Amino acid sequence: MMKAMQVRFRCPRCEQTVRGQVAPGTSGLSCSHCGGTLDVAPDAVADGHLNYCLVCRSQDLFVRKDFPQRLGVGIVIVGFLCSAWAWHAYQITLAFGILFATAGIDVLLYLLVGEALECYRCHAHYRGVTPGERQGAFDLETHERYRQMAARKSVGTEAEVGNESR
Ligand SMILES: [Zn+2]
Ligand SMILES: [Zn+2]
Repeated sequence: MMKAMQVRFRCPRCEQTVRGQVAPGTSGLSCSHCGGTLDVAPDAVADGHLNYCLVCRSQDLFVRKDFPQRLGVGIVIVGFLCSAWAWHAYQITLAFGILFATAGIDVLLYLLVGEALECYRCHAHYRGVTPGERQGAFDLETHERYRQMAARKSVGTEAEVGNESR
């Protein structure tokens, strides 16, 4: 009855982005790139809640909308192009109509998508999990604390922190 949790994280060993599924009762996460395994403690996932990050064991996770940003941006661009074409063809009403429809689709998508959890510390991303009581919306203060911690640890590679290029 419970969907498997999906996780996306950066492998601590080879630094590649790994996507995988965590079935209930899983004891390890393996990296598809280097074959390394991360141990998953039995109490990490309970009743569909994630008690702490499976990758770095941090308890600070925040809830974010699981919104496919590329899709959202794509819809806006297509809408804008159609609208520009209608404008060019002197179809002013149609041009505005397309713009409003585009905005409407984006809002609808935003409302329909589920919630995901993200780790402040290592930016691991978890889908198919119910946010727990301690896990609230994004908090800038906590984010800043972790960012500074990461910056102290790796002076010079700071620009990489939070970089989701994949
Ligand atoms: Zn790896
Ligand atoms: Zn983490």
